[in-house]
Amino acid sequence: MTSPLYGQMMDVPLLASSLLSHAARHFGDTEIVSRRIEGDIHRYTYRDCEKRAKQLAQALIALGVEPGDRIGTLAWNGYRHLECYYGTTGMGAVCHTINPRLFPDQIAFIIDHADDAYVCFDMTFAPLVDIIAPQCPKVKGWIALGDASCIGEHLGQYLGNMEQPVLSYETLVTAQDGNYEWPQFDERTASFLCYTSGTTGNPKGALYSHRSTVLHAYGAALPDAMGASSSDSILPVVPMFHVNAWGIPHAAPLVGAKLVFPGKDLDGKSLYELMESEGVTYSAGVPTVWLALLNYMKQADVRFSTLKRTVIGGSACPPAMLRTFEDDYGVEVIHAWGMTEMSPLGTLARLSWKQKQRSPDEQRASREKQGHVIFGVDMKIVGEEGQELPWDGRAFGDLYVRGPWVIDRYFRRDESPLVDGWFPTGDVSTIDADGFMHITDRSKDVIKSGGEWISSIDLENIAVSHPQVAEAACIACSHPKWTERPLIVAVLRPDATLTRDELLAYYDGKVAKWWVPDDVVFADELPHTATGKLQKLRLREIYRNHVLPDVAEKAV
Ligand code: ADP
Repeated sequence: MTSPLYGQMMDVPLLASSLLSHAARHFGDTEIVSRRIEGDIHRYTYRDCEKRAKQLAQALIALGVEPGDRIGTLAWNGYRHLECYYGTTGMGAVCHTINPRLFPDQIAFIIDHADDAYVCFDMTFAPLVDIIAPQCPKVKGWIALGDASCIGEHLGQYLGNMEQPVLSYETLVTAQDGNYEWPQFDERTASFLCYTSGTTGNPKGALYSHRSTVLHAYGAALPDAMGASSSDSILPVVPMFHVNAWGIPHAAPLVGAKLVFPGKDLDGKSLYELMESEGVTYSAGVPTVWLALLNYMKQADVRFSTLKRTVIGGSACPPAMLRTFEDDYGVEVIHAWGMTEMSPLGTLARLSWKQKQRSPDEQRASREKQGHVIFGVDMKIVGEEGQELPWDGRAFGDLYVRGPWVIDRYFRRDESPLVDGWFPTGDVSTIDADGFMHITDRSKDVIKSGGEWISSIDLENIAVSHPQVAEAACIACSHPKWTERPLIVAVLRPDATLTRDELLAYYDGKVAKWWVPDDVVFADELPHTATGKLQKLRLREIYRNHVLPDVAEKAV
């Protein structure tokens, strides 16, 4: 029954398959280029990609995969992974991307929890599959992303004693003709499943819908978001196993952009060479990969000839990195914030007309923040009594979000994480009068000194802006009078001579006196999570018994 109040427009469901169909039909010749794990460069077009995604859908149906079944992927960024994205979701199954950098036990937990029917894997992960397969008895088969000969090469050493069958992706796909129409179904049907990395406890699943995937792709492509265009050549360094590579595999076909996939080689030299040879104009990744790329470029004394913009997010982009990209290499940095539970995009630091009238220093200060929401996400900050805090750029509190691409609950967990319809991000931030959000901390990493909060991220950013510091973390150290005080754990660059006192003196005039860290310790390296973030929990454990200098003096 149609209501007399309804508009009279076509009721076309928002389905992931429509993104690829659009690109295949309207940008059919646009290239998708991949550095394969086989070592060579593979190129084909959106038209070819759709045909093979349809062949995959047919192959899955032939294997007995039903709509709603989960198909896991353990794969690098590449064309076969893209086919998995669209072949699975296109036929109504759920594409479950798995982070291979997690511990094998966590991966096995995730595959079992998601009840994956099949898992597609790049051959680099054959040793991993060998370890986890016995812990995943519900998986019906493992699909190697290669032809039959590549499985043969590994049989015996790995995959030889597996109970479940190991199938060749190429054999499955090429057996089908691709004569297949994408089915139309309810846009609220599940599309992708991504697990958070779970720094504490087991990982939790965020189950996206076709509707949320397509809306997020629209939002991501907007000019004040990623601003992707058909004139771009986009290289996502952010892995397709990390929150759908921030939506690039969906936003690129939506606008018809060329896609360039780096495969497993994410070192500075490999990335630089691929960017240059494929005319890459746009990229996206976490700060750690950019650190490697910038180091390589400095050593090799090379410059970008086509790269114009890059999105940096996943953890705070150090202002020093933003400066290097822009001042030394002429590449615009777009600082972005989001999380798995938000598909992931929430805010991006792109300036409004009003902000662009201000001084260069003021503009840069705004662009160092995490930025403005995209339409589709609303946010608020809340104080300790649950009261909403003002947007004055100073008050900081717990950050809440809501919107059509924010989760409502976690996969296979009954309790709702929402508070009055808002999702608590676990981040602490300020929001200024421009609506620019600035993350000061994860709530569990905040340093509480004498009842006031100190931002560990701000103190880390200052440390890494010192030319002799390669990486730094700031953690809370217990203090009898102030409860907690900041401690810096720093990794120095090779040949550095910087001392503790010199680094502490470097804070003078950059922050309020009571924010200056109480101590510095130097380490050879810092622990990171599977998504490249600092593992502060582990650092707090390591330095639990660290005694701050003024406490030690008083004890004497
Ligand atoms: P995981 O939860 O799996 O580690 P996510 O990518 O979902 O991975 O992590 C989301 C969290 O990462 C955010 O809640 C925030 O704490 C942090 N984060 C993401 N982007 C930024 C950013 N630009 N600045 C500071 N923190 C960020």
